[in-house]
Amino acid sequence: MKNVAILGFGCAGYHCAMSLRSEGFSGDIHIFSDTDLPPYNPMLTTYYAGRRLPWKGLFPFGSLNSIARSLRLTPHTNSAVKRLDCKERLVVLENGTSFPFDTALISTGARVFVPPIPDLPEKNVYVMRTPNDAKVLRERLDKGDVKRAVVVGASMVGIKVAELFQRAGCHCVLADLAPSLFPLAAVPEVGEELAGRVEAKGVELKFGVGLSAIRETPQGLRVVFGEESLPADAVVLAIGTRPNLDFLDETGPQVDRGVLVNERMETSVPGVYAAGDCSSGYDIQSGRHQVIGLWANAGYQGVTAAGAMLGHPVSYPGTLLHNITHFMDMDFIGFGDVKAQGEIIRWRNEGFFLYAVRREGKLALVNIVDNHIISGVIKSFMSRKFLGNCEPISPMQRVILLRNGLNEDVIRLLENTELEGGLIHG
Ligand SMILES: Cc1cc2nc3c(=O)[nH]c(=O)nc-3n(C[C@H](O)[C@H](O)[C@H](O)COP(=O)(O)OP(=O)(O)OC[C@H]3O[C@@H](n4cnc5c(N)ncnc54)[C@H](O)[C@@H]3O)c2cc1C
Repeated sequence: MKNVAILGFGCAGYHCAMSLRSEGFSGDIHIFSDTDLPPYNPMLTTYYAGRRLPWKGLFPFGSLNSIARSLRLTPHTNSAVKRLDCKERLVVLENGTSFPFDTALISTGARVFVPPIPDLPEKNVYVMRTPNDAKVLRERLDKGDVKRAVVVGASMVGIKVAELFQRAGCHCVLADLAPSLFPLAAVPEVGEELAGRVEAKGVELKFGVGLSAIRETPQGLRVVFGEESLPADAVVLAIGTRPNLDFLDETGPQVDRGVLVNERMETSVPGVYAAGDCSSGYDIQSGRHQVIGLWANAGYQGVTAAGAMLGHPVSYPGTLLHNITHFMDMDFIGFGDVKAQGEIIRWRNEGFFLYAVRREGKLALVNIVDNHIISGVIKSFMSRKFLGNCEPISPMQRVILLRNGLNEDVIRLLENTELEGGLIHG
């Protein structure tokens, strides 16, 4: 392997480059990025927009110059990839120049999905993904003229944006087509509990409403949900994301929602790898391909791709779908399949609420409200289980769980041993 082309320089691209160098690769590494910013952390954008983080804080690996120097990279900034010609082995940029490669990583992440509604106003409608998105919204909030905001999408991103408006003293409506909060991560019972708390903080919630139009009027925007419409000075779309893969053609790798990868991040094209939010790796619970959309997953996939490029016996089996989020002074943690049907376990203790579903003897879903400390232990335990390791929770992990509010009954239940008293069953 003489040279590596990394397309997109976010979490996945950075980890691949860093790992190639730390594993001793001495060839050329070309970075093709559509921005001139260093790799940024999209999950910190709402903190910047809300003045809780400085601009520098968005870039966890430092400046582009220092990264390029220390990892001996050749960055091509403001150089969006227009085409990846896997037959001729060329990266073609939007400005028409092309670069030959022998090995490539596709790590172009995802962009915010903007629904195809006609005549979407150009002004006062925002999204949240990039540092620039955060800057634009922060500047708008600084003006102090947003009195009424509508956030479309009751997702992890949507709730963080709603929190921004709430903290800024605006009246905010958070709306979603789904029937409850966090429809992809929280079971309705937990979603409803959280919704009650969010409403108590002053955010208005509207469920079961689908966005049909956003209209400009002399009095401001009208956000239309079928028969109903809401006034707004600012609207944020947080409906979901789509992988950035427009540059792939018929010479490129197989794609479902993202580029299909195996456990070594190999695609269907030899020498072409993919990682992060633009790839479709494995959900270890279902065993199926899935675009994962998580920061740590992007990092592991980038490192794995580097190892595979170098011919090392690396393998990343996938991840357990999870959401861990802190908002409006509460924590929500969701692991596993939100649609799972089976035996329900509910555990309430002073500080928190745990809701779990056991399906065919395996933990299929855990939702936790207000106890982030135990989340790491439960996640690693569930991940091990789905990977076929049936060892009980380790003594150290047991201590963490016990110290943080669970009791032996619940722990045993999580381990699938016999249930004793103290639990409420649905
Ligand atoms: C508001 C928000 C909150 C989040 N919260 C969490 C959370 O709590 N926990 C969690 O685990 N994850 C969270 N995420 C998701 C997490 O940020 C992503 O999973 C992660 O950043 C993916 O990294 P990536 O490298 O795949 O993609 P990205 O970070 O998107 O990087 C891809 C890079 O490629 C560039 N690019 C795109 N197209 C091209 C092109 N054609 N040519 C060249 N360059 C291109 C992009 O501009 C970008 O710089 C959150 C995301 C958002 C937006």
